Amino acid sequence: MDSSQFREAAHGAIDEIIQYYDTVAERPVLPNVSPGYLRPLLPEGPPEDGEPWSAIQGDIDRLIMPGLTHWQSPKFMAFFPCNSSYPGMLGELYSGAFNAAAFNWICSPAVTELETVVMDWIAKLLALPDCFQSAGEGGGIIQGTASEVVLTALVAARERLIRRRLGDMPEGEERMDRAADLRGKMVALGSEHAHSSTQKAAVIAGTRFRTVPAPRSTNLSVTGKELRKTIEELKERGLEPFYFTATIGSTGTCAIDDLEGIVEVAKNYPDIWIHVDAAYAGSALLCPEYQHLCPPIAHFDSFNFNLHKWLLVNFDCSAFFTKRRKDLIDTYSITPFYLRNQFTESGLVTDYRDWQIPLGRRFRSLKVWLVLRTYGVNGLRKFIRGHVKLGEYFNGLLNSRKDLFSVVTPAAFGLTTFQINPPKPAKPSSPATTKDPAHEAYTGDFTNDAEAQYREDANRLTKEAYEKVNAGGEFFLTSTVVCGVYV
Ligand code: PLP
Repeated sequence: MDSSQFREAAHGAIDEIIQYYDTVAERPVLPNVSPGYLRPLLPEGPPEDGEPWSAIQGDIDRLIMPGLTHWQSPKFMAFFPCNSSYPGMLGELYSGAFNAAAFNWICSPAVTELETVVMDWIAKLLALPDCFQSAGEGGGIIQGTASEVVLTALVAARERLIRRRLGDMPEGEERMDRAADLRGKMVALGSEHAHSSTQKAAVIAGTRFRTVPAPRSTNLSVTGKELRKTIEELKERGLEPFYFTATIGSTGTCAIDDLEGIVEVAKNYPDIWIHVDAAYAGSALLCPEYQHLCPPIAHFDSFNFNLHKWLLVNFDCSAFFTKRRKDLIDTYSITPFYLRNQFTESGLVTDYRDWQIPLGRRFRSLKVWLVLRTYGVNGLRKFIRGHVKLGEYFNGLLNSRKDLFSVVTPAAFGLTTFQINPPKPAKPSSPATTKDPAHEAYTGDFTNDAEAQYREDANRLTKEAYEKVNAGGEFFLTSTVVCGVYV
């Protein structure tokens, strides 16, 4: 494809993309295809000789479109959103054009320098404590996903503990043996409602993983008390808790862990790396009404949120802020001869390869910069507030039909979880003894058996309704189970 063919093809593609966005709301969200639909429609292998773009482009509509789930549709209500915007797409287009594996500053200074600047802007916009700015000992880096961030933080936490415990012990077999012993005892922690990425990171890092209880009685939040109890129990068994994921906006219900309480634990256990995962809800911190959540983060080690979830930056873009970039660099900086250069050696530049697991990296800050400039802070706040309001509106609609629905966790950052009510059992003569109603339809005056039956019926009915909605294909919802309640 030469430049004039590219011009024609790109114009055609842009026209199709605009047409797609203009009509996405009219399409059913879920595709009507069966597993394996695509292979029979494709040839056995790639063509021997190149094809004209005109032959290729038509196949996007013919073969790919029928198998797409339309995440950008307003009827897509599953998972967390994965926002997209035209400036975000333009950023991806330019990034593709400037294609580079910009791992060191000299590999493309603009890639590094723009990233440092926009990450500082974002830290400030989110009211993250100043220690997360690059002017001090901290700073931000863009990674692909929150899962990569959690893994990066967890491995850095593991290695930091080893450095702290083994101090000046010389490199060699003995140090490696001691480090291996220590790694075998290490335990990563996360709320029972934390995203599965923490457990996965522990598997990859070869450490143990343990959940911290976060029951309904504490609004599904990990409290400082519960975290401390878990740490103490593990220590009594001779194990080494070394990492904890605190969550702002848990995946199931958007619960927030008790950050103030966790600060007190952090003070007592400075060797435990505390990471705050705000993958989805973090975008709301752009709005001053949520920024009261930020001051405790100064006592933790790192923070992340996904701009690709709720801030109009196209996938992938997870912002990772750390308070001491040295903790990352001490873990990830390995410099063979071919990566040396005068700029790195001058100490005046940032080489983001030393803050992350891969070597190569994409020019993601470009799309962030374009989105921030196109919408402005006020435009982005308006966008977030609009979604929060929609969540509250939906919650209100459910509450206006308490005969049919029970809100299980009220609207939080746009997410409401609810159940379908089964018919109420008749009131018995002797009331129930349990006092933890799964939802508002319980009045606490049924017998335990009747209540158990009611809960079971509510779970079953809710699951049936959920399956029916998704089978229709028009809308797409997600269900989950929260402390035994199917929502
Ligand atoms: N953390 C939380 C709280 C999430 O809700 C999710 C996904 O929804 C993740 C982490 C993982 O995100 P990613 O797909 O960016 O790895």
